[in-house]
Amino acid sequence: MPTPHQMQLLRQLPQVEELLHNPTVEAIASVMPRALVRDQVRKSVDDIRSAILANKLDSFDDDDIAANVLRNVLKLEQPSLKRVINASGVIVHTNLGRSVLSDSAAEAVSEVARGYSTLEYNVKTQSRGSRHNHYEQLICTLTGAEAAIAVNNNAAAVLMVFHEFARGRKAVISRGELVEIGGSFRVPDIMALSGAEMVEVGTTNKTHPDDYARAIDPDTAMLVKVHPSNYRMTGFTESVDAGTLHALADSENARRRQIARAQGIPGGESPLLVYEDLGSGALVDFTIDGYHETTVSEVLQEGADLVSFSCDKLLGGPQAGIIVGPKAAIDRLKRNPYARAMRLDKLTIAALESTLRLYLDEDVARQEIPTVRMLTESAEDTRERAQKIANVVLRAAPDGAVDVTVEPDTARAGGGALPMCDIDTYVAAVSFKRGSLEECERAFVAERDVPVIPRIHDDRMLLDARTVLDDSEIKEIAHAFTEYFAQHDDKTQPRANA
Ligand SMILES: *Cc1c(COP(=O)(O)O)cnc(C)c1O
Repeated sequence: MPTPHQMQLLRQLPQVEELLHNPTVEAIASVMPRALVRDQVRKSVDDIRSAILANKLDSFDDDDIAANVLRNVLKLEQPSLKRVINASGVIVHTNLGRSVLSDSAAEAVSEVARGYSTLEYNVKTQSRGSRHNHYEQLICTLTGAEAAIAVNNNAAAVLMVFHEFARGRKAVISRGELVEIGGSFRVPDIMALSGAEMVEVGTTNKTHPDDYARAIDPDTAMLVKVHPSNYRMTGFTESVDAGTLHALADSENARRRQIARAQGIPGGESPLLVYEDLGSGALVDFTIDGYHETTVSEVLQEGADLVSFSCDKLLGGPQAGIIVGPKAAIDRLKRNPYARAMRLDKLTIAALESTLRLYLDEDVARQEIPTVRMLTESAEDTRERAQKIANVVLRAAPDGAVDVTVEPDTARAGGGALPMCDIDTYVAAVSFKRGSLEECERAFVAERDVPVIPRIHDDRMLLDARTVLDDSEIKEIAHAFTEYFAQHDDKTQPRANA
């Protein structure tokens, strides 16, 4: 039951029509569509009503509501998805959009976005073409695969592989590889969704070739390996590589052929496949901190029939997932209804094609693909940039407001890749003598058109040079400090012991 005071406030609530004549609201309505303004007025009245009922409002007038309308309309005009400056030192930062595209990929996207394109048009035959043609040959050249298909992301790729090849049949997987990646992707759930029957073998820490061998029966469609991605098991552990699984599949397939021949239906048997979900999809050698991340071509050479991987993790391209394998298998995937449901749009294809082309020359890839460059840049080079950041921050802040030092620290690959690898880096470490770390971080993240995302450690703001892209971002960081102290310095006093 509302209190008498609440009742009185509720009775004061104006009609929507009345508010439309408020001078502020009329001013907004003169530059914005009337229906939209009316909607926002109604919403603001509802907001005030809820605030009254929640006891969060003691009094109000029509101008308060009009101001609320103005705020909401202005908010609608602001972009929600914005560029940010990533000074966190996490390179493939999933919350910040994973990989930054290379200049050539960004140009390719812009070019294709602004006009019509040859998306499904074969200019040689002047007839219908396939969207797969734009990237397939490149992937095959770079990985040694016979054929490839790209879809919306690797999660979609995994779902498709199970659905096409193991639906209604058995897929054997180690208990040590039933992983969860980033909350919503869990291998057992994807398998269930695909209609494949999951057969778990081995134990959490150890799985032997025999565990797989014993699980194989005529109804087994697939031996599965999943890259543990975001965690590592160390100590008393053992897992089976794709090469060993390939040998197991080979002898099972020989048996199936023999039985089929004996039954007079040679070629009618369905082969046992080895599939590896590789996760990150490294196309070049990343040996960081002594750890080598298996590349796509290495897994294919080991003996995996099908391999799937992400395009926006270590590969450094747009969000997509790629499946490589024999032409007959990839042709089946291209005909699977999921291929249509999860197909790439032209913007992603433009970015993917142009990212892959950079890999034709590995040195070019290391130079021009930001993710690859950031993962492999020497610590010495990041020190130079950290020094630049420190210098501009010192200049941008009022005298004595901050202390800044350049220090060695550790950056991370992120994106569930290379989780145990410490990547040596340099940071500009800022301690606040005036203002406050918390307030400054909030201003950097919440109040800027281009937010600056720092790392916070031990009461200091660390700006990691490894993920700060260039001089123009360094300038923007300086600007963020100037603005913060201009807006907040007058409210703060020097700390007593500063
Ligand atoms: C990241 C990852 C996925 C999911 O890939 P997305 O491209 O994010 O959909 C699936 N499997 C493994 C092993 C991964 O590391």
